[in-house]
Amino acid sequence: MELDQAETAALLAALELQIAWGADQALDEAPLDRTRPREAAQAPPPASAPAPRPAPSRPSVPLAPAAAFAPASVLAGELAARADSLDALRDALASLSHPLRETAGNLVLSDGVADSGLVLIGEAPGADEDRQGKPFVGVSGKLLDRMLASIGVERARNAYLTNILPWRPPGNRTPTDAEMNLFTPFVMRHLALLRPHHIVLLGGTAAKALLRRNEGITRLRGRWHSLEVPGLGPVPTLATLHPAYLLRQPAGKRDAWTDLRLLKRALEAHAAGS
Ligand code: URA
Repeated sequence: MELDQAETAALLAALELQIAWGADQALDEAPLDRTRPREAAQAPPPASAPAPRPAPSRPSVPLAPAAAFAPASVLAGELAARADSLDALRDALASLSHPLRETAGNLVLSDGVADSGLVLIGEAPGADEDRQGKPFVGVSGKLLDRMLASIGVERARNAYLTNILPWRPPGNRTPTDAEMNLFTPFVMRHLALLRPHHIVLLGGTAAKALLRRNEGITRLRGRWHSLEVPGLGPVPTLATLHPAYLLRQPAGKRDAWTDLRLLKRALEAHAAGS
């Protein structure tokens, strides 16, 4: 199809607007009209239209049928509290109706060793995490892996990673306070099930959501806080800089290294005492 200059400019402007709205990656090969009701948007095209190519397969969580969605704001706390296993927690999140799930590709819950005793909590999945369904698999995750390796911590061996939000916010925007409040009960239930002996909060969003403090991450980092986990008790919790921030501000790595040394000492003391 030949496009004239005006048509090309109009299409580019529409694309720019989509990107500004946060639609910065293609999730499926076939387009989906998200301005129409779910059933209508997914209805098959008329018989005369060419059949769409099948969407590529990607890891996915089983999603509840639309009719079974729970209204998120009402039921989040109750759903989280009822989850009595990690699988049940994943199912509870997957059953939640929330605008974020409409734009995300996959639910991203965790990676690593559930009974390692060390849980690291980030902000929200990015584009790579959204595609793979696992936290911290993109560039900031690679930096995190290298940082942890320098103190003998490895996600495949002795650490567990998760985020405050289980779905990628469109365009990687910062989670809103409402989103953080909604998902915090799930994070707390996650922690109650994991029973960690130490927690690390990666960045300002995780620190704000869980420590419930107004100071920014630069004031909260570098020392141990106590996080009261229901059913478990107070857990020593370290706030530190997010690896994505360190990629933008390499000078912060010096502070991050101070924090990692604090963590290393605490893990050694724990190992020596147990
Ligand atoms: N940033 C986060 O906070 N979490 C991820 O999983 C990836 C990037």
